[in-house]
Formats: sequence, structure tokens, C-alpha cells
Amino acid sequence: MSEFIKFFDELSKEDVSLVGGKNANLGEMISKANVPVPFGFAITAKAYQYFIEKNNLYSKISVEMKRLTDINDTKTLQSVGKNIREMIEGADIPEDLEQEIKESYRKLAEKIGIEKPFVAVRSSATAEDLPGASFAGQQETYLNVRGEEELIEKTKKCFASLFTDRAIFYRIEKGFDWRKVSLSVGVQKMVNSKAAGVMFTLDVRNGDTSKIVIEGAWGLGEYIVQGTVTPDHWLVDKETMKIVETKISDKPIMLLRAPGGGNIEQTVMEDMRRKPCLTDEQVIELARYGKQLEEHYQHAEDIEWALDADENKLYIIQCRPETFWSERKGTEAKVITKAEAVLTGLAASPGVGIGAVKKVIELRDLSKVQKGDVLVTKMTTPDMVPAMEKASAIVTDEGGSTSHAAIVSRELGIPCVVGTGEATKKLNDGEIITVDGSSGKVYLGKLEIEAREEEDYSNLPETKTKIYVNLGIPGIAEKIAKRPVDGVGLMREEFILATYVKEHPLALIEQGRQQFFIDKLAEGIEKVVKAFNPRPVILRFSDFKTNEYRELKGGEKFEPHEDNPMLGWRGCSRYVSPKYKDAFVLELEAVKKVRAKGYKNLWVMLPFPRTVKEVVEVEKIMEEHGLKRGEDLKLILMAEIPSNIFLADKFSEHCDGFSIGSNDLTQLILGVDRDSEILGKMGYFDERNEAVLRAIEHLIKTAHEKGKIVGICGQAPSNYPDFARFLVKCGIDSISVNPDVIAKTRRIVAEAEKELGRGL
Ligand code: PEP
Ligand code: MG
Repeated sequence: MSEFIKFFDELSKEDVSLVGGKNANLGEMISKANVPVPFGFAITAKAYQYFIEKNNLYSKISVEMKRLTDINDTKTLQSVGKNIREMIEGADIPEDLEQEIKESYRKLAEKIGIEKPFVAVRSSATAEDLPGASFAGQQETYLNVRGEEELIEKTKKCFASLFTDRAIFYRIEKGFDWRKVSLSVGVQKMVNSKAAGVMFTLDVRNGDTSKIVIEGAWGLGEYIVQGTVTPDHWLVDKETMKIVETKISDKPIMLLRAPGGGNIEQTVMEDMRRKPCLTDEQVIELARYGKQLEEHYQHAEDIEWALDADENKLYIIQCRPETFWSERKGTEAKVITKAEAVLTGLAASPGVGIGAVKKVIELRDLSKVQKGDVLVTKMTTPDMVPAMEKASAIVTDEGGSTSHAAIVSRELGIPCVVGTGEATKKLNDGEIITVDGSSGKVYLGKLEIEAREEEDYSNLPETKTKIYVNLGIPGIAEKIAKRPVDGVGLMREEFILATYVKEHPLALIEQGRQQFFIDKLAEGIEKVVKAFNPRPVILRFSDFKTNEYRELKGGEKFEPHEDNPMLGWRGCSRYVSPKYKDAFVLELEAVKKVRAKGYKNLWVMLPFPRTVKEVVEVEKIMEEHGLKRGEDLKLILMAEIPSNIFLADKFSEHCDGFSIGSNDLTQLILGVDRDSEILGKMGYFDERNEAVLRAIEHLIKTAHEKGKIVGICGQAPSNYPDFARFLVKCGIDSISVNPDVIAKTRRIVAEAEKELGRGL
């Protein structure tokens, strides 16, 4: 058997070091999961090495690489890259190898019964010693390649793409020796897709694993993914393998592959528009493949399929683990038990925690909480943070997925279930419970569990979109700063106030102790900016609601009672109010103090800016106190009120950029109290609602037209991988996520950038 060529049916996932991850997985699907994948073969890493050796390219490339003494020297990098690529493309593939590739192409043609078939020629990089290294998306792919000569030419181009400027930069930065990285090429039949679509091996609307969802439309699958065409929809029962739901849509347009490359849109003929794009038999056949893949990989799958027009045959094009529901429910399976849950709430922070119940009804109960206990309370407040840090899990009666308890516990990495309704009633002090923060369930007693999976920070791809982290608790800044993040997209000042200052600023002013406030706040801020320096830290000025301010020592005297503090005196409206302005000035003084120490990476952000007028006033107060936005002090506005969206052009005049607060924005666009457990459980609070998506898209577009940057610091991209993909599609500049999903988000964003051709 040849070491240079492997047909897909000879490959499995064990062959990553020989043919790279992409080819190995195609092989795995064909040979192990027995599903039809467009057939083809891999030109192995050995073939690449043979080509390089025969042409004496190792020493020539070496000479070039030595010229590159500084990877940040872009000019040299570009010239080195160009020279190497030209050397590779200009070299000849050794005769014996060339013949073997051509012969394999002929064999492929024979096997699929098409003369001179169109093929896709794909790079699949692989690293010796590091079979798991991900170079995904860095090298080239060529579609619609036809004929032996073109195949040889494109193969060389793939080889050369191992030395794109970006790939050279990436490898040096990550410390990979270029000699140890090879390239395998996949040569695969192009599907001439008559219809295409997606399939999930669970019901994506509710996570029901007993069903398979299939969606499809005419032509290529892109229009379904983009949402341009409403697809036909089928629901298949996994047990009986019967179709239990069918919805056929009007599909007026389709995307087809243009003969000369690229895609073209076409109108669908009148009699085809409302016709199902698959027969019932085809739907069942697909569902069977879905089931096989799920069984093979032991995981719910997210699959792309296509129906080939020439052969009238179904193909699986891509298969990857389903993430949204699986990650929410994934750890649920880790509670290995048949026990009945005593309480059910919302899954707020993943993982499983076991410990003795400590109910916190009044603040003085806080001292009861010892390391490893489960903190059970109506709803957490900033005062509870030190106790929360000690807990092995947190359970609350109230609150939604963006409530204080949810946010803090995710930041601390502590499992949490919110909105159970009656935890403080049903649970008794001292009893041992098991809390599954991934499914939102609470069990009595100690149940068997598996450890929570840690994030994998190795071999992370580069992204053009900056990945920031949300942070509140300064104490963990140093730890988090070691992770691969580009800065802090949201540092919530409330946490510093609650843990460092603890007293109400107006009470302190009354006692003449304003310096204490400035010093303590500055101390907390400095911890964070120091840990992240020179990466930016966006400090958001205080966004406590009146009820929360009242919790600070001495607060009762200064905080009015409001029936609806969420929509009350919060954010900018406080800073411009004669009743709070003096306290806001102390916040400014603290920022000034930290910046005066040389921490120019400290930027500031205004929460809840309802009107442009208010922002203008705040800007003026800032200037009066020596904080003028400009070159090194950026002023960011939270975009979290519909007014921010509608008047994005006007708000743009008074800031350097926006940060989308998808939590409040969703609440205010949909009219859904973000803390309502009733609506939360009914699924109303959903940032993926089209109204919210359109708002975000509009904001990004408008702000960019005005030359302003846009990021996001709400919870949505931390919870939903698809949301991050959507944001990349809209061209967002930065995404700020919880500390526990940094690596995951970076991978998703890199993939999305690659798909959109927007990467580095
Ligand atoms: C938001 O509203 O999305 C946000 C990030 O701010 P907070 O959750 O603190 O209101
Ligand atoms: Mg908000």
C-alpha cells in the first residue's frame, strides 16, 4: 500500500498525524460510522515531505526563515512568506508521486462513475509530536478543481499555503518548529447539490434527545445557515424512526455553485417552490445516518447534508458535536443517578457541587457559610460575594440567568441553580444536597458525580475579533489574566464597592471620609489593571440599583424606595443628579488616581445611558474633573436600551465605542424582566430573538459608519456559541465572555472568521 495516498475508506481518526484532522475525520465517518461522505483520497503528509526533500526545499526554506528574526517585522515576514511560497509552487512534484496522484484521481473518477469529476482540494495540516494541534482554517481550499493537471497545480498551492504569512506568524508565536509541521491534501468529489441542509440529532427547540431535526432547501445550504430562506422542516422520532412533524415552506430562491467558481443566486421555478426538497424516504435515510453518527461519536451531532443532483444520492458533508444543548445538558449526564430532583430551577452556572445546606435569610447568616457548603438563599446580593466564594454550589429561590447569583457564580466557577421558587423553604440547614448547575436540578443526598471538564488552552487559534473577559471580583484578576484574553471587556464596579468599600459613598462624604472611598475603589481597580497591563480594562462606573445601594452601610438614608429599581434610578441618571453627583466624582477620582500611576490601560464605561443629553452632561462632569476622553482614555457607552440602538448615530458623537449589554437590551426590547423566573422558565428571555439580533446588527453597522468600535459584554455569547458566530458575522470588534469559556469562544470565533473569510 502506498504511503503517499490513502483513500478515505482506508482512514480513521487514528490517522491524524498522517493525513491531518480533517481527512482523518472524513475517513472515520466513511469507514467506522458507515455514512456516505463524498468520496476521495488524501495525499499524505509523507508525500509532502517527499516533495520537499526531493526538491531540496528544507535547506532553502531554512535560509529564508533565518532572515525572519522578528515576527513583528511585517515587511520581512511578507517577503519571506512570498519567497517560500514561490519556491514551493515553482518546484516539481517528483515524477513517481505525480503519477500516483493522477492515477488516484482516475481511480476516484472510476469509483464514483463520473469522467473527469469536479473535486474540492483541501489542505489538512498536521504536526509531528502534536497530533492534536489545531491549524484549522489556516491553509487553503480550492473548489471546483477538474482534471489531472489542475489537481497537481492546486496540490502544490495547498503545500505552499503552509507558508502563508499568517501561518508562519502563528507557528513562530506558538513555538512550533516549521520542520515538524506537514501538510496533507484532501481530494474530494464536489457535490452538485440539488438540495442541502442541516440535521441535529436532538430537537434544537427544546433539547429533546428523542428526536432528530432535519431542515433543507433547494441548492446549497448557505441560505439556510444565513436564514435567507425558510427551510422545510422535519422532525423524526429516534425510536420509531417515523416522521412526526413536517412543515414545508415556500422557498423562492436558491444558491447554486457557479461553473467558474463562486456562487450564484437563482429563483426557484414556480412548481418547485412549495415542493418538499426531500422525499419522506430520503428524510428517513438521513435520520438513520444522523443516528449512526450520534451512536458512533457518543454525542449529539450537528450535521450538514447535501443531495447530489447527478447521482440523486444523499451525502453527509460535515459532522461536528452539537454544542448548545449538549453543553447545557452535557454535565447533567454526569450526575449518574436515577434520583428524583427535589427542586428544579434554571441552570445558571455549569458543574456539580455537593455540600451541606446553609440558608442565608438575613445577612448575619452569612457567617454560617463554611468552605464547601451549599449557599441557599432567596437571591444573592453583592454583600454575599465573600461567602459565595467559599461555597461548593449556590441555589436561589429567585432570579434568571443574568441575575447576580448567575453572573457571580459563573465568574467564580461555582455550580449554581437559580429561580427554584422554594429552595429556602424545601431545604433544611445541614442536610447534604447535590446541585447540578448544568441541568438546573437539585437532589437530596450525595450523588455520584464526574469531575467538571476544564477548558483546554492549548493550540488556540488567533482571532481578529478581540476576546475579552467579564470580571467583577478583583481578587481573581491575576489568575484570569494568565488566560488567553485580550483584555477585560466589562469590569463591574459594583463588585469592588461591595467587597472593598462596603459603605455608601454619600454616607462617607457626610462623615468626611471620602478619601477612604477613593483609596479603596482605586485599590480594587488597580489590582485588575495591573494584572492585565497593557491589555485594556474597561471599568464600568457603578450600576447598582437603589435597592442594592441601600445594602451598602449607611445607604438607607440616601436611597429612596423604588417599586421597580431595575427601571429606576440607575446608571447615568445618578451621575447627573444633584443627589448623587458628588459620589460619582469620587468614582472619577479613583480612576484618576489609578491612571496617574501610569495605568493607561484603564478605560471607562457608562452604564444605562438613556439619553444623549445625559451622556453629554456626564462627559462634561468627567472633563471638569480631569478625565477627558481622547487618545489614551477611551469612553465606552453600554448599548443596552432601545434608545441606544435607535439613536446609535447620535450617541456615537459622544463616545469612542459601544459595548452591547445584551442582558438589559433583551429585557427592554422584549419587555421581559430578566430576573423573572416564570418568564425565564417559559423561555421568554432569549437574546437570540430576532428583534434583539436586528438591534445588534443595526448598532454595529451604524457605529462602524461613524468610526466607533463595538463590543459586547452581556451574557449571550458566553451561553450560546451560535450567538458568537452571529456577532462575528455582523463584524463586531470584541466579544467579552465569562472566564470559563474563553478558549471555547476563541475557537468558535476563529472558525466563524475563517468561514466568512474575515480572519487574520
Ligand atoms: C447587560 O445588561 O448585558 C450587562 C452586561 O450589564 P448588567 O448585566 O451588569 O446589567
Ligand atoms: Mg446592563
